[in-house]
Amino acid sequence: MSELILIVEDESDLVESLEYNLQQTGYRTRVADDGESALNALDEVDPDLVVLDLMLPDMAGIEICRRIRNDDEMHQLPVLILTARGEEIDRITGFEAGADDYVVKPFCIDEFVLRVQAILRRSHHSDEQMKTDRVNFGDLYVDFAAHITRVDEEEVELTPLEFQLLDVLFTRRGHTQSRQTLLRDVWDIEADVMTRTVDTHVQRLRAKLAHCGEYIVTVRNVGYRFIAESP
Ligand code: CA
Repeated sequence: MSELILIVEDESDLVESLEYNLQQTGYRTRVADDGESALNALDEVDPDLVVLDLMLPDMAGIEICRRIRNDDEMHQLPVLILTARGEEIDRITGFEAGADDYVVKPFCIDEFVLRVQAILRRSHHSDEQMKTDRVNFGDLYVDFAAHITRVDEEEVELTPLEFQLLDVLFTRRGHTQSRQTLLRDVWDIEADVMTRTVDTHVQRLRAKLAHCGEYIVTVRNVGYRFIAESP
């Protein structure tokens, strides 16, 4: 499902334009026109990003931003602040309160959409790194950032190439990788020949991983697949 953007803004013309353009770009939207409904919406809908006007009828937008940053579950939720021209003080306060970015009204809607896309890309990237940097999978432990591999808590020495092979197979677990694909993505070779290279290295990697080598399955006449579910 597409990403959900919560728009907290009380100027209805602006809301209409923001909604229209975000939806055209493929996002879902939800609107709150004051602080209280914004807080309710945050509880209810779990948005991927909040577009937050600083001047709301019942509450300062900054206060909502602070609450998001101080909340255990929402503290990483990206916030894009809308502020009026000349409100330099708001901009500074906005960053202090933990906003990810801001745009000054009146703004170009295309630029606004680009900012939204950039923030969401960054936030996905950090999600991914959180997920894959360190992994426990059955008896296998891999720290992809530090290049550490352990089997049954014993460190295993892998060459950079073997580590790269493990990384590619593991990241695409559940999906069969042909020898050609592995040659391209691990060895950076675009060729149909030398397929024995892949087999030799997979054998070596399996041997080093001891019983965890069984997590890498041979797919006859095609290539290899890392099992999808940890045993
Ligand atoms: Ca306003």
